[in-house]
Amino acid sequence: MSRSRISADIDFDKEGKQHGFLRLPHSVHESAYGWIPIPITSIKNGAGPRVLLVSGNHGDEYEGQVTLMKLTRRLRAEDVKGRILILSAANFPAAMAGRRTSPIDGGNLNRSFPGDPNGQPTAMIAHYIEHVLLPQTDFVFDLHSGGSSLQYIPSALIRRYEDKERMAKSRAFLEAFGAPIAYIVDVPQGEDRTLTGGAERQNVLHMGTELGGSGTVQPAVLRIAESGVARLLHHVGVIREKLTQEPAPKTRVLRVGGPDYYLYAPDSGLFEPHVDLGAEVKAGQSAGLVHFPDTPWRDPSPVAFARAGLVICKRIPGKTQRGDCLFHLGTDWD
Ligand code: ZN
Repeated sequence: MSRSRISADIDFDKEGKQHGFLRLPHSVHESAYGWIPIPITSIKNGAGPRVLLVSGNHGDEYEGQVTLMKLTRRLRAEDVKGRILILSAANFPAAMAGRRTSPIDGGNLNRSFPGDPNGQPTAMIAHYIEHVLLPQTDFVFDLHSGGSSLQYIPSALIRRYEDKERMAKSRAFLEAFGAPIAYIVDVPQGEDRTLTGGAERQNVLHMGTELGGSGTVQPAVLRIAESGVARLLHHVGVIREKLTQEPAPKTRVLRVGGPDYYLYAPDSGLFEPHVDLGAEVKAGQSAGLVHFPDTPWRDPSPVAFARAGLVICKRIPGKTQRGDCLFHLGTDWD
């Protein structure tokens, strides 16, 4: 595969703290020889673990972006042992637009891996992360949340790996992060167009989050994100002193399995939920009704849970289209 056309205006091998941009060539009507400036920070201090912190993979997931912007300003080179790269607005056009996807090409960065060096901007960013950044990374932590359409119980997540050593190391991230819940995505042959998939291909250890959502930044959720990231950095040994003295709260570890964990709108209309986040539901229990504003005398469509579990994610907008995800469940791992 050919080389990335993106260039960094900082030197990742240089000691100390540097801020700069990844320059993504973008020749358009308004700017013939222009480039898209994706902010990046490198904080390097001698030999040690190499960590890549990512947020803004989806532009409307703000908790992680705020967490990493604060960390960008706070961390000093003397705090670090090894190197931390911070990419706080990974899909920069999407982050600036406050949208899940890029307004330039419609691209969803987290469905664009392994990317394409000669593709549209979103594919070029995915290619750069997978083929330039990940090969010089030991640990990648990718901070997501529910975005505009979903709300989560703040959680950390990993994929289930067959490799026992990889699984044990990844599971330890969940305990170190200490979100109220953590979940392991137990889907063999799962989605491989994500950064998670890229990390697995490049043999980089990975943890993600689903911090909150609804296109908001809530103080309680931000505290979970900030203290979790601080503990994670200390856990992997890239920080000399603890950034937080708060011990990790106990996290409830769940499994998110196949299609029966997810509930989708069977019709388009107005959704009336019958349960909230944190509900423990039974198989067959009513999840809600889809009402039809264009024919109000028509009976609403019932929606029921296919299996028992804990409601960890719910749809936020009342208006819904057939195929929208309304809820998803987790079940205890052990
Ligand atoms: Zn996301």
